[in-house]
Parts: sequence; C-alpha cells; structure tokens
Amino acid sequence: MSESPPRFPATRCADCGHLYGHEAYICRECGSETFAEAPLDGTGTVYARTTIRVPGSDQQGEEPFEVAVVDVGGEETVRVTARLEENPELGPDDPVEFVDRRDGVFYFRAA
Ligand SMILES: [Zn+2]
Repeated sequence: MSESPPRFPATRCADCGHLYGHEAYICRECGSETFAEAPLDGTGTVYARTTIRVPGSDQQGEEPFEVAVVDVGGEETVRVTARLEENPELGPDDPVEFVDRRDGVFYFRAA
C-alpha cells in the first residue's frame, strides 16, 4: 500500500475561483484580495526541468541542483516552480509527488 503524498497548499481566489500555487495577495484575474486555502492532491507531473549550476546569492553552495516546473493537483492543477529532491533525472511528464515546503521552496520527488 503506497502512502499518498501530503496535500499541496494552494490558495483560491474567493471571488473568481482562480487557483494559485503560491500565496497571492491580489488576484491577477479579478483584483480580489480575498483568498481561501485550497489544498490540492499532492501528485503531479514535470512540465520542464533544468539544472542550476550558477545559483542566486541565497542558494550559493547548493549547486548543482534541479529545478522543475511542476503541474500539481488532481482534477485541478496549478503550475509551480519546485526543487526536486535527490536530483533525480526526471523529464517532462514524469510523475512526481509533493514532499513539503521549506523556506518558501516547494520540494517534490519522483513518484
Ligand atoms: Zn479572482
């Protein structure tokens, strides 16, 4: 029996229903400032991936690491930028699952 991954902490605009993978303060669709938590299924797929060899100043010393654009969710998905744990060689459409969020960074691993 496989354990299901943790729910992904998305938020939803309370007025127009637009989903956000990151915290939003003003809805870019309707301008609303009201949001509600909308946890999503933590499974997803890789949309794109790249290896970071020259990181920004806050990530110095961690290179190289893998950054992926992940579509996460079940019936509804959001596209988020994430780090891939253990730097697996994942490519487009490979399945991943949400691990957790640390220091504002979403981490996924191969599913
Ligand atoms: Zn909205």
